Amino acid sequence: MILDRLKRPMADLRISVTDRCNYRCSYCMPSARYEWIDRSEILTYEEIVRLAAIFADLGVQKIRITGGEPLLRRDLPVLVARLAGLEKIAGLSLTTNGSLLGESAPALAEAGLDRVNVSLDTLNAEKFKRITRRDDLNKVLEGLSRAREHGLRPVKINTVVERGLNDDEIIPMVEFARRNGFPIRFIEYMDVGNANDWRMEKIVPKQEILERLGAACRLEEIGRNDGSAPSVEYKDADGGVELGIIASITEPFCRGCTRMRLTADGKLVTCLFSERGYDIKGLLRSGANDGDLRSLITETWSRRKDRYSEERFEALRSTSGYQTQVRRKIEMIRLGG
Ligand code: SAM
Ligand code: SF4
Ligand code: SF4
Repeated sequence: MILDRLKRPMADLRISVTDRCNYRCSYCMPSARYEWIDRSEILTYEEIVRLAAIFADLGVQKIRITGGEPLLRRDLPVLVARLAGLEKIAGLSLTTNGSLLGESAPALAEAGLDRVNVSLDTLNAEKFKRITRRDDLNKVLEGLSRAREHGLRPVKINTVVERGLNDDEIIPMVEFARRNGFPIRFIEYMDVGNANDWRMEKIVPKQEILERLGAACRLEEIGRNDGSAPSVEYKDADGGVELGIIASITEPFCRGCTRMRLTADGKLVTCLFSERGYDIKGLLRSGANDGDLRSLITETWSRRKDRYSEERFEALRSTSGYQTQVRRKIEMIRLGG
C-alpha cells in the first residue's frame, strides 16, 4: 500500500475514458474555447488495462469509469470485461449521464460491471433541457430502469443541487428514488474547472438540504462508508431509501481522500481541483517496462499533499475570502467526477 504525504493510502482509481460528452451541463461544461483532446492522445483499452493492473498491484481495490460521457466511448463493455477480470479489483463502477444506458445496460451487466451512478438533477423535462441543453429526460429514466432490470446493483442517482435551478426538486427527487428503490446522493455544487460561473450563492449547503429533506423524511445519520467515502449516508426511516449528501464545500473530506485519477489522455491527477497532471502516457508509449510505470505512480502518490477543499473552506471563512478563478484547474470533463 502506498501512502501520500498526509498518510492517505491510494485505494481507488477513477479512469476517464473520453472527454467527449453529448450533454452540456451548465455546472460542468467549459466555455466554447475548450479544445477537445485529439483522438491519437486518448489511451487505448490495452494501455488502460495495463495501467489498471499495475494500480491494482499497488493497492487499488476499486475502479470507477467516468468521462466526459463514458458510454460515448466505442465498445465500452470490452473495457469493462477486462477491468472486471483483474484479480485484485473488488468493485467496478461507472458514472454516466444515463442517455445511452438503456441500450448499453445488458452488455455492461454481462461484462461484469458491478454498479452504476446515473446523474439526474431534475424530473422536469423543461428544466432537464435547460441544465443539459438536451431533451433527453425520458431516455435517462429508461436507462435507470433498464440498468436495474439487468441486475446492476446499486443503480444510484447523483443529483447536483444548484440554488435557483433545481433546489425546489429535492423532495420530488427523493420521492422518485423511494418509489423506484434507487439510492440517491445530493451533491453540493462545486467550483470544478474554470468556466462554469461558480459562485458561493449558488450553493445549497448540506445543512439546508437536510432541513428541506426534513419536511418529508425522518433521517438518521449513518456516517461515511469505510470512514473515507465522500458522501455522508442517512437512513430514511419512512421511505427506506438510501440517501447521502456530498458536501465538498461546507464539510470537506480531504483527510479521507484515497482517490487517484487517470485522464483520458493519460495523465495521473491527484486531486479533482489540480492544475496539472503527470504524464504517464509518454512513458507508456516510449516502451517503458512495468517497473518504470510503477515507479512513476508510486512517486506521484507519495508526493501528494492535496487538500484543496479544506483550503477552500479555510479561505471562505477568512477575511480575505476565496477566489476560485485564481487557480487554473483541469476541466471536469477531462477528469471525471
Ligand atoms: N458524464 C457523466 C455524468 O454526468 O455522470 C460522467 C462524468 S461527470 C463529470 C461526473 C459527475 O460530476 C456527475 O455526477 C456530475 O453531476 C458531477 N459534476 C459535474 N460538474 C459538477 C459541479 N460543478 N459540481 C458538482 N458535481 C459536478
Ligand atoms: Fe454533464 Fe457529465 Fe457531460 Fe459534464 S460530463 S456535461 S456532468 S453529462
Ligand atoms: Fe480529494 Fe482534492 Fe477533493 Fe480534497 S479536494 S477530497 S484532496 S479530490
